[in-house]
Amino acid sequence: MKIRRLRLGRLSVPLKKPFKTSLRTVEEVTTNVVAVETDEGICGYGEAPPTAVITGDTNGAIRGAVQDRLGPLLAGRDPENLNELLDIVDTALVHNTSAKAAVDIALHDLWGKILGKPLYALLGGRAREIETDYTISLNDPEVMAKDSLEAVQEGYSALKIKVGSDFQKDMVRLREIRSAVGKDVLLRVDANQGWTPKQAIRTISFFEDEGFDIELVEQPVKAHDFEGLKYVTDSVETLILADEAVFSPRDAFTILSMRAADLINIKLMKTGGIRNALAVCAMARACGVECMIGAMMETKISVTAACHLASALPVITRADLDPPILCASDPVEGGARYSGSMVAPSDGPGLGITAIRGLVLE
Ligand SMILES: [Mg+2]
Repeated sequence: MKIRRLRLGRLSVPLKKPFKTSLRTVEEVTTNVVAVETDEGICGYGEAPPTAVITGDTNGAIRGAVQDRLGPLLAGRDPENLNELLDIVDTALVHNTSAKAAVDIALHDLWGKILGKPLYALLGGRAREIETDYTISLNDPEVMAKDSLEAVQEGYSALKIKVGSDFQKDMVRLREIRSAVGKDVLLRVDANQGWTPKQAIRTISFFEDEGFDIELVEQPVKAHDFEGLKYVTDSVETLILADEAVFSPRDAFTILSMRAADLINIKLMKTGGIRNALAVCAMARACGVECMIGAMMETKISVTAACHLASALPVITRADLDPPILCASDPVEGGARYSGSMVAPSDGPGLGITAIRGLVLE
């Protein structure tokens, strides 16, 4: 069997309400679908949304990387020779982690379909049900308290609170949210790089002194500021989770060596796909550091890949896989199964996706 060609398509899915962080506001999920087709008619799917403020990748960059570089390099090759193909993807161009992730995911889906096994099984795991948290967008404190209470009433017991626009207002936000939801709800705080190290220490110390019982604080400082991240981690008792600081296995190695964070958030759009995510997991496990699995605002295609990975890797102990829940509709049939806050991979081969409604491939 040989890879015939890589094809691109677009999907747009409206959100139930705008998704707001300290970096951006998103009204709908738009994504680039990559289909890897073989000469025997088997097709693997992946996707890459443009998340320019985080990854640097725009729609044009993603499409160009696939059309001009990755597609021509992979055409004519044996899809069962997965590691060699992933080496080609990894070394074909620097950066471009979203395009690489889309192709890596599609190659893994195809591999699973050829072998007739679900991806989680091929990664050495079983179908594990994982609890996802639910993200509360950055808004005025009273709006966030209301949104948080509604999420709890809908059955979510872990909330990810977006902050980072103004550290003094963030203290008010958490006070109002904790008082609205009561003490039994797990609260995670994501500053999306919005604080300086000293603002982070002041804000997190305030959370601690006030007894807000925050499980973890995610990416308090700028992505590049590893020393600042370590300073925060060393200065507070609350667990610090590195997100935008860790893209590649090399980043993970540096963060782990420095002990700059307590936890690592893995997203396939940052690592460039499953293969590099496995490397991050292996290093974290060796260092006794647990991981979270997260996602950008993606559709269920790549979120399903993340779900298979998390299902197979015990070092992934926390999940932030709520984008399909935040979407007003789901064009993906099969794939990850959601039941309230619980998500699990399905048993079909590869990602287990059976159809993608409205997808037109070019
Ligand atoms: Mg984050």
